[in-house]
Amino acid sequence: MKIISINAGSSSLKFNLFELPEKKSIASGLFEKIGMEGSFYTIKYNGDKIRKEHELKDHSVAVECLMNELIELGIVSSLDEIEGVGHRILHGGAEFSAPVVLDEDVVKRISKYNELGPLHNPANLLGVEAFMKELPGVLNVGVFDTAFHQSMDMDHFLYPVPYEWYEKYGVRKYGFHGTSHRFVYGEISSYLKRDDLKVITCHIGNGASITAIDAGKVVDTSMGFTPLAGVMMGTRSGDIDPSIIEYMVKKTGKTVGEITNDLNKKSGYLGVTGISSDSRDIEDAMAEGNERALLAQKMYIQKITNYIAMYNNMLNGADVIVLTAGIGENSSLTREQIIEGIASLGVKLDKSKNDFRGEFRCISTEDSTIPVYVVPTNEELMIAEDTYNIKLNK
Ligand code: AMP
Repeated sequence: MKIISINAGSSSLKFNLFELPEKKSIASGLFEKIGMEGSFYTIKYNGDKIRKEHELKDHSVAVECLMNELIELGIVSSLDEIEGVGHRILHGGAEFSAPVVLDEDVVKRISKYNELGPLHNPANLLGVEAFMKELPGVLNVGVFDTAFHQSMDMDHFLYPVPYEWYEKYGVRKYGFHGTSHRFVYGEISSYLKRDDLKVITCHIGNGASITAIDAGKVVDTSMGFTPLAGVMMGTRSGDIDPSIIEYMVKKTGKTVGEITNDLNKKSGYLGVTGISSDSRDIEDAMAEGNERALLAQKMYIQKITNYIAMYNNMLNGADVIVLTAGIGENSSLTREQIIEGIASLGVKLDKSKNDFRGEFRCISTEDSTIPVYVVPTNEELMIAEDTYNIKLNK
């Protein structure tokens, strides 16, 4: 069965077409600068890659163009072969704790959460609307970044603020990257053939979040009301004293929105180094002895290892630590430093196993108190599989 997985942004649309249950990606690609000058798209299939400039007025035009290409390139012989479309949706509030079949009514309900994820949610829904229009009658499924974390208990998701902020305004921890945490948890559980594992999953990419999971239930997660909270990231600050915001508004004359934007886009690795948000650039600068890069990396490792130690305590001892996403899967250096940073827990790296990229591997020693695995994430596949499972049960 062919299922397409979609991640729509405000001016982009990323897709991956899978054959399931084989988990085989048949074609993938990206439509960029939708609604802007110079729009174009790239499609990878069968070891080939095409790139075309094409006016993409809106998301519907991008979807129409994608469908034409799938036929013309011989990737499908008829659009009827596509039996489901899975959409990544950032925010489902407290209402959606599992993937859901999308229809107009459900889309309306999801749009209530647009103000909790203003950069992503409306854009994700543009993708849904485009598919409903271009492929009428085909199953659309929404898979939420927040859903997995809905299993958290109240003492973990509530902030110690006036209770009515929660009751009236929905101020609470929602958590993000849930699809990725759920995917790698599933991978490690099936590899170790256990469904009762206590795992600390570390999604460390441009965005980063750490999650404590006990037998498939989220105990706690580092991101919060928005994806700005938790550990330091590529351009995001992670946890800071909230009073800094008012202080900086007074000092700079900027608005709260502008300061929040600085915390989202000009902080983290980028803010501390002034060089880049990309860990490869930071590693290059560190190799040249750049002081601010060395400082940023120290801070970065501290924030991550503090969360791991805290979550190990919360889980009353984790069975496994999982590293994933761009940095977790690819940076031997950051992996090594993270493991050094939790040496007090008795976790030990086997250096001879750590020099690789993007593979499923155990990188700890035999006598490490907690085994550490690198597990490549695949949110697109998870979204496609969720859609496939709903299709099978319909
Ligand atoms: P993601 O958001 O998961 O795509 O991850 C992006 C991050 O992964 C960026 O900071 C990249 O620099 C980082 N990354 C990807 N490949 C490598 C690599 N070979 N070494 C270090 N960092 C990498």
